[in-house]
Amino acid sequence: MINITNKKELSALLSKKKTVFISPAWKDKKIKQILLCPGSIVSKNDGDSHYITANDLINLYKIDRKKYQITVLLRKDMEGDYPDWTKLHPLYSGNYEEKRKEIFGKTEIKPSAKKGKIEEVFWNKDSEYIWFCKWCGGIAYVPREFDICPFCNENQGIFNKNIGKVKLTEDEFQIEMIKEEGEYFASTPDTFYLMPGYEGYEEALKEIWKGSGTYKSAEEFFKEMDKQYNLSTPKKFNVKIGERINV
Ligand SMILES: [Zn+2]
Repeated sequence: MINITNKKELSALLSKKKTVFISPAWKDKKIKQILLCPGSIVSKNDGDSHYITANDLINLYKIDRKKYQITVLLRKDMEGDYPDWTKLHPLYSGNYEEKRKEIFGKTEIKPSAKKGKIEEVFWNKDSEYIWFCKWCGGIAYVPREFDICPFCNENQGIFNKNIGKVKLTEDEFQIEMIKEEGEYFASTPDTFYLMPGYEGYEEALKEIWKGSGTYKSAEEFFKEMDKQYNLSTPKKFNVKIGERINV
């Protein structure tokens, strides 16, 4: 299943061209409930015993209180009563930053789909709505009375969120992108980091979307990705290229 929320991918798909689907190669670990386990700890640094309160734990682990359901453990022997909760303890090592990354870090998603695989494509799958504007992807609130789209003022008609099926024309692969000093760089499995202006730059990047109608140029592609994912630190993406079938 492919879920798209990107208008460029949508319009390429609706115009029956080859489409490039790009998704982040990571997902955030799903943590909802946090159990704070305050207690005494002998510090590695000074050898003294310190009591680390629940509030200290919040600060040391840099927890955003609004994002989680948080409870404080009142008695040590009750920890087993919270099997599904993420537990935060005082650390002898004092290295909370490393522990925080380990607990809250991202899980990598490896590219795995093979050429020839058939996938169903949905627009905005999580939305409760079913019909959307063909021009801008906006919600068609009353599909039977849809005339002019309130979002884009066009009357191009509507489409069902279950767009149809695509057949992958090659194996899914991974690219990495970064923006440095205003310039975009990308690597694919076959290339090193590419530089704008470098001979063959656009050529090499075309390989990423293999003549699809998804993006007009490498520049446009990068700008879009930067806007969505902030490429000031390197980010990895998984790329699927597919053709719509049974249209
Ligand atoms: Zn519209």
